[in-house]
Amino acid sequence: MHLTPDADDRAFRLRARDWLAAKAPTDRAPADGPPSRHFALDWLGQLHAGGWAGLAWPEAYGGQGLSPGRLILWYEEYVRARAPSTLDCTFVALNHAGPTLIACGTEEQKAHHLPRILEGRSIWCQGFSEPGAGSDLASLKTTGRVEGDHLIVNGQKIWSSFADIADYQELLIRTEPGSSRHKGLSWVICDMSLPGITVRPIRNMAGATHFAEVFYDDVAIPLTEVVGDLHDGWTTAMTTLAFERRTAAMALQLELSVKIEDLIAVAAPRPGTAMAETLADLRAEAAAIRAMTYRVALRDPATPFDGSLVRLAFAELAQRIHRTGTEIMGAEALIDGPWMHDYLESYSETIAGGTAEIQRNIIAERILGLPREPRP
Ligand SMILES: Cc1cc2nc3c(=O)[nH]c(=O)nc-3n(C[C@H](O)[C@H](O)[C@H](O)COP(=O)(O)OP(=O)(O)OC[C@H]3O[C@@H](n4cnc5c(N)ncnc54)[C@H](O)[C@@H]3O)c2cc1C
Repeated sequence: MHLTPDADDRAFRLRARDWLAAKAPTDRAPADGPPSRHFALDWLGQLHAGGWAGLAWPEAYGGQGLSPGRLILWYEEYVRARAPSTLDCTFVALNHAGPTLIACGTEEQKAHHLPRILEGRSIWCQGFSEPGAGSDLASLKTTGRVEGDHLIVNGQKIWSSFADIADYQELLIRTEPGSSRHKGLSWVICDMSLPGITVRPIRNMAGATHFAEVFYDDVAIPLTEVVGDLHDGWTTAMTTLAFERRTAAMALQLELSVKIEDLIAVAAPRPGTAMAETLADLRAEAAAIRAMTYRVALRDPATPFDGSLVRLAFAELAQRIHRTGTEIMGAEALIDGPWMHDYLESYSETIAGGTAEIQRNIIAERILGLPREPRP
């Protein structure tokens, strides 16, 4: 498993580099709210017009059908150009909802949603977690009662990123009365403008309102919005999460190599900071993350749990790089530059998409073959 670019790959890389140099916004994206929506949709619209949207999506659905190797080349150029973070409000649509619709949706669902996503006309959020169901997602309690040709939804979701500015939500609910755990769930497209939905944004410690609580009070969702089979939403949800695990975080992982060079540049004019050894270690670890990213993307056939290894190593390294940034900057970090803000934001890396402890459990049980912990 090597990335050995040929002449076509090199031409592709240069085309990506030139396009990004000409088009990538140099302003930092707004942190949250309608300005962040406007910024992200505008940028996605430009990517689409330039032929760079839906890179991993099949060409039959308007994507670019890039191989994992080409995806790596694109994202290496993307982070080098310091283009906007891929973890913005278009992330769920491009990396979860769209690919899930392609894999499990009806032709009507695909025809309606896929062009809107790719062209930068709709934002999606994810409604999986609940106050009592995060790491243990199968304990979710929000219900959808079948009444005629609708589901009547009641309950609450939490931590739903960008729910305050989203048009649609991928909503996982319990639709079979009396069911428990993984049985009797459904994955449903929820139009966020439906009557009975209340969105209450939550402010994080960095001061941003990226995520929200969402309350459902007799929300009527047509049965035609179920993706996959009714009552078999766990299968659809696992499809969604599989897309997240393999390549969705590729740009963030590769970006650490750029961040560490930025940090070295911050440290260089501050000769008082005895940080050389720390920075050398961090640079080596960022290179290791890059190698692991290649491995996860290029290994064929894919080994599904490798994603947990790179996810855990990435999350913990991202926090250490940003913390080192604040240490080098000292009090200046409080008033100048992104380091303090990004350090506070980086705490979410060991929670979102599966906490560090859950990743360790997966590595222990599924990769190392250690005994399984007791299940509820
Ligand atoms: C920035 C951010 C964005 C998010 N976006 C979304 C989103 O868009 N949509 C969505 O649905 N959710 C989202 N989430 C929620 C995220 O998926 C959950 O926070 C995560 O799954 C953990 O669940 P929890 O918060 O309920 O914590 P819990 O599951 O209650 O865990 C609490 C603590 O117990 C530990 N723990 C739990 N179980 C075990 C175990 N078996 N072994 C060892 N330790 C354990 C955990 O590691 C953690 O430290 C987001 C979270 C963050 C931080």
